[in-house]
Amino acid sequence: MNLILFGPPGSGKGTQATYLVTRYTLEHISTGEALRRAIADQTEVGLRVKELMARGSLVSDELVSQVLRTWLQDKVKQTRRFLFDGYPRTVEQVRLMEDIFEEFQLADPLVINLDISEETLLLRLTGRRLCSECGKMFNVYLNQSREPGRCDGCNGVLSQREDDTPEIVQDRMAIYKKQSAPVLECFKEKGNLHTVDATGDATEVFSRIAGIIDTILHDSVT
Ligand code: AMP
Repeated sequence: MNLILFGPPGSGKGTQATYLVTRYTLEHISTGEALRRAIADQTEVGLRVKELMARGSLVSDELVSQVLRTWLQDKVKQTRRFLFDGYPRTVEQVRLMEDIFEEFQLADPLVINLDISEETLLLRLTGRRLCSECGKMFNVYLNQSREPGRCDGCNGVLSQREDDTPEIVQDRMAIYKKQSAPVLECFKEKGNLHTVDATGDATEVFSRIAGIIDTILHDSVT
């Protein structure tokens, strides 16, 4: 089984991905994380995308596909079960992804679309703070740490992602509506799209997603 987690920025793709990879034994690729790592490692790709990402713009379809291909080349030696988080994000990436799936002989994916109001997204993104030591997530509006600016777990310093400031978040939302939302239509036409209400507690959202996947897996063996 392969899964695509689709949804606007802040819809909880990263959190749900961590639950899903454990439950269904999937290898996780977040294109956003892969690109952030490339920036931190100052690779050639990292240097090319740094400014674009800081502005909240999308990286070119070709470059993201190249990053994904490189990553898959290594991973398919061990598994053919993947969870794609944040990819595809444009209609062109859907097309490129089909070529990649064929090239690596991957089974057609199930697409889970996380549906959530824009109001909630804005609070989640602009309030999000990450521990620079252990990566634990807090939110200044929704889930404050006990001591402001410090992680409850390891006392590391909390920081805000460069693209989570209110101005950049507005831009990311506009880009999502213009470039990424049309991707849903492609998957709807293919008939593999499943939309889930992504409001509420992360474990509740996970139960909804798992309910859908388990039904599909059950139906496919009966
Ligand atoms: P994310 O961590 O998924 O919110 O992604 C952070 C940033 O990485 C995005 O705002 C884009 O600049 C870039 N990015 C991640 N995935 C893609 C993609 N599939 N296509 C283009 N840009 C991407």
